[in-house]
Amino acid sequence: MKKIAILGSTGSIGTQTLEIVGANPDLQVVALAANSSVEKMEAQARTFSPMVVGMWTEEAAKDLRERLADLPVRVVCGMEGLLEIATLPQAEVLVTAIVGMIGIKPTIAAIQAGKAIALANKETLVTAGHLIIPLAKERGVSILPVDSEHSAIFQSLNGENPDRISKILLTASGGPFRGKTRQELEEVRVEDALKHPNWSMGKKITIDSATMVNKGLEVMEAKWLFGVDLPQIQVVVHPQSIIHSMVEYVDGAIMAQLGMPDMKLPIQYALFYPDRRPMMGKRVDFFSLKQITFEEPDLEAFPGLRLAYRAMEAGGSMPTVYNAANERAVSLFLNGRIRYLQIAELIEAAMDRHQVIVHPSVEEILMVQQWTEELTDKEVLQC
Ligand code: NDP
Ligand code: MG
Repeated sequence: MKKIAILGSTGSIGTQTLEIVGANPDLQVVALAANSSVEKMEAQARTFSPMVVGMWTEEAAKDLRERLADLPVRVVCGMEGLLEIATLPQAEVLVTAIVGMIGIKPTIAAIQAGKAIALANKETLVTAGHLIIPLAKERGVSILPVDSEHSAIFQSLNGENPDRISKILLTASGGPFRGKTRQELEEVRVEDALKHPNWSMGKKITIDSATMVNKGLEVMEAKWLFGVDLPQIQVVVHPQSIIHSMVEYVDGAIMAQLGMPDMKLPIQYALFYPDRRPMMGKRVDFFSLKQITFEEPDLEAFPGLRLAYRAMEAGGSMPTVYNAANERAVSLFLNGRIRYLQIAELIEAAMDRHQVIVHPSVEEILMVQQWTEELTDKEVLQC
């Protein structure tokens, strides 16, 4: 029996993780956490009988406590609750399916407590990878990628010598606006940006895919997970999302992982690695697929990707500025406060004003996050 805890169980990755738990009797859920989705959490607690559940707000926790009064489950809240769930002695694996930098502290605490991490929460690795990767090595803890591209790279590295990697080919669908010019993107509405052609995901990452900031975050995520240099990571636009990423070796051989676009495969792979388990669902049919195509990313129409390389080259606290400005800008865009093109503009404006801290501590990362959010809000007020 493998015992798992999930941060962000009510979201897109969280619910798909629970579907996998439902289909595999040797997985057991011991703890779940969410922000404010009390009804969903009540249903999950009744189905999966965790020992502890966490809600972010005190109000949501109080509501849930009343709803679950008939069950032997403890309801916790806030960051204290997330930390308790992340370090629960009974859990072996923590699935980080929470969205945003809020995942930093719980992820670090879980690694310190010796938990394996099934990592979906890329914002945490992007901003604190320089602390997390060495810590995981020191504690002998595995970080198993859930992000489909990183899972594909991880699978393409099976049995290979990582010193023989020539480059990583990180595939991108190109999102809903692939092929559009900057000018055509001026009038984009929230509804348009939320229509991803291949994947059904949470709102934040769907907007990140529409700006290609998601690919920028993934470049940084790949750098930390696989220890490669930035110039070794090449983004390849592949609209059909069948090849989930590739690794080219020094002899020119390229290993790739292919499959239908379905997050359940990488989630399940992370939970059972190095084993593979059967999975229902559609299979790639090469005859009906007919063609798979590739393009170079358009860095002019999608400056969010260009800025990610700049942030990573600057290093230190700059990826935090990139990520925090994006988190804030996406939320402002979703609330109708800014236009689509302003997302990348706000990221660039914050990066232009930032003095890099070379090796930021967790506290410094969180201070830089706050500084960036305040600056971004001020910029928007001035518009
Ligand atoms: P969703 O928005 O669908 O879900 C986010 C989850 O996090 C929800 O359960 C939400 O709870 C919870 N949450 C948010 N804030 C807090 C908080 N302060 N305390 C506790 N829980 C919180 O996101 P996704 O599932 O789409 O994405 C999750 C992460 O995985 C992101 O980092 C994303 O980039 C990454 N990822 C996602 C993919 C996908 O296919 N969706 C693919 C690859 C990576 P509530 O429901 O109460 O709001
Ligand atoms: Mg991805």
